[in-house]
Amino acid sequence: MAADDVTDASAGDASPTDRMEALRARIRYHNERYYADDAPEIADAEYDALVRELAALEQQHPDAAGASPTAEVGAGALSTAFAPVTHRVPMTSLDNAMEDAELVAWGERVAKGLDGAAVRYACELKIDGLAMSLRYEHGRFVQAATRGDGRVGEDVTANVATIETVPKLLADVAGLPEVLEVRGEVYLPIAAFERLKAAKEAENAERLAAGRKPEPVPVNPRNAGAGSLRQKDPSITAARGLAFWSYQLGEVVGGPEFATHSDTLDFLRTLGFPVNPEIRVVDTLEDVYAFCRHWQEHRHDLGYEIDGAVVKVDSLAQREVLGFTSRAPRWAIAVKFPPEERTTVLRDIQVSVGRTGRTTPFAVLEPVFVGGSTVSMATLHNEDQVRLKDVRPGDTVVVRKAGDVIPEVVGPVLSLRPEGSEPWEFPKLCPCPLKTELVRPEGEADTRCVEPECPFQRDQRIIYFGSRGAMDIEGLGEQTVLQLSDAGFVTDAADIYSLTRDQLMTLPKWGTLKADNLLAAIQGSTTRPLPKLLTALGIKGLGPSASEALSRRFGSLDVIMTATEDDLAATDGVGPVIAGSIVRWFAKEPNRAMVEKLRAAGVDFGRVEVSVAPQVLVGKAVVVTGTLDGFTREEAEAAIKDRGGKSPGSVSAKTFAVVVGAEPGASKVTKAEALGVPMLDRDGFLHLLATGELPG
Ligand code: NAD
Repeated sequence: MAADDVTDASAGDASPTDRMEALRARIRYHNERYYADDAPEIADAEYDALVRELAALEQQHPDAAGASPTAEVGAGALSTAFAPVTHRVPMTSLDNAMEDAELVAWGERVAKGLDGAAVRYACELKIDGLAMSLRYEHGRFVQAATRGDGRVGEDVTANVATIETVPKLLADVAGLPEVLEVRGEVYLPIAAFERLKAAKEAENAERLAAGRKPEPVPVNPRNAGAGSLRQKDPSITAARGLAFWSYQLGEVVGGPEFATHSDTLDFLRTLGFPVNPEIRVVDTLEDVYAFCRHWQEHRHDLGYEIDGAVVKVDSLAQREVLGFTSRAPRWAIAVKFPPEERTTVLRDIQVSVGRTGRTTPFAVLEPVFVGGSTVSMATLHNEDQVRLKDVRPGDTVVVRKAGDVIPEVVGPVLSLRPEGSEPWEFPKLCPCPLKTELVRPEGEADTRCVEPECPFQRDQRIIYFGSRGAMDIEGLGEQTVLQLSDAGFVTDAADIYSLTRDQLMTLPKWGTLKADNLLAAIQGSTTRPLPKLLTALGIKGLGPSASEALSRRFGSLDVIMTATEDDLAATDGVGPVIAGSIVRWFAKEPNRAMVEKLRAAGVDFGRVEVSVAPQVLVGKAVVVTGTLDGFTREEAEAAIKDRGGKSPGSVSAKTFAVVVGAEPGASKVTKAEALGVPMLDRDGFLHLLATGELPG
């Protein structure tokens, strides 16, 4: 059965009873995909919306109640690969709050249930993994079981035994319980997930090269973690690098008495269990809020994924009073963070053309709200990436946008692929009106339009000329350039210097103020330093640091223009490839004509602000993450660039070092770890700035 077969009663026209039945069937279907197959077809946010719709309908129509997933702990059919394990103390789920008002309502229910007694709240991270029960007898690990339907789970002892952080023999403390069941979350750390993903991608590249179909790449740590754990062969589990956080006691026979949840966690710590260090116990709901807000903002600073916070009443006596519903404790609530992953329909794959003629395929998506903004487009990078991901127009795809990272199409949901769909083919012709044939040079990843007159490339060159890293002309953004180009006012970047107020006033929605502001900004750009001008020309391969080095060595655009290829190549950080590209660029008549137009417009060709810093970082990429004493992030990056280095925004195998300050971005740190890139603290950074070398 496919999901669509159980969605016939649509929200709009069905009776409430029919709609409830349809929702129940649909939720059960997705439970099966998620819990039994570890391969969900919809993102959690979509699933949660279905559950909430059903719960609301059930509340409005209590008489139409019946067996419902809203009253059960979610589970698919238990796998026959694992023996069943009956939980002596049921493993429950958690109710959740998506909005502030729901947390307030929970707080009120708790207060009411406790006759207004003071409450302390334990605030924990909601680890996005797989709930696990670990059983110890006389201090020895004897069994691990999944949650299953809350009463019966699956015996995964052999698999869990491979997890390093799960203790196999407990610390020999006084009063060790005869039987101790510990509950917690098995999860896949982000670094381990990245490794798994990279390995799969490399394998897929080989498959493609051999003419075979790529296999699905793991979508997120949660599903990859659950899949890694529920393997028939524990040696596969062992190789994946799973980890565990404990957060709850289950069945306990003997041992000490506890008054609070936090006491139980302390006890678990002394026995050698990993307990998350971020847990805080607070006295008010305001502090609970503050905890949730903090972690919503900093969720990517952790080396593992969280999808919310869990708030628990700390007193065990108060928990007794509050009790449980059929599926969840009344004394706890999960506060869910906004989703960073959604599924949506890929309407089309189109191709954009950059200033150097490089074409980039991008996904046109059914707009979807994810990671705090509406996403309707996402880059697909190049032809091979599309093929590796095997995304096709019409596919339902997983879209991810985490923090301030650009949105990504993670991959297709294969089970929802429309019948008869064909792999996407890279277009043969440039999408511009000239429709020139595109070429993909042997051994290169990019497909290019090589027509110098291509109007799409020309527009992009003008946009680049005015952009921040180049001539930095405020008001000359993409929209404006396209307007100017459509009106025929500009055919190259130098034409902007002859724009007139009268011309601008003929454009739709332009007034005198906007026109005068743009003209003033354009005029202001005539005195930009030479490296900016050189960068702005958009010569292939010539970025800001090589421009800086050339400016310092040659002093003016006229000298650079007439320098020989060898002379240019002898500049630190330039080399033969860029030198060749520069010489070819200036050899072209239209480019020389543009340079002369710039000269005629009064653009300064020789403003060089020489950096006094030692050029010890030429050719080195140093990434900065977090804040450092005495430097803002911008200042740290500027210090690197002043010394001839680069400071890109992300870590790759080519990164020389990562400077790690306070509150660093977890993805940068985990990537550096995974790739073995050296990490420096403030002192190491100062050493690097002074010497260009890593500290000894
Ligand atoms: P839940 O994940 O919302 O909350 C309960 C679980 O939270 C516990 O079982 C435990 O595993 C976990 N947890 C993490 N940190 C914890 C902590 N510190 N203390 C206590 N528990 C902690 O509820 P659920 O019933 O497990 O499942 C619902 C989740 O699964 C939702 O996120 C839902 O979107 C997802 N789901 C998705 C699909 C799908 O098709 N995409 C299908 C089914 C379920």
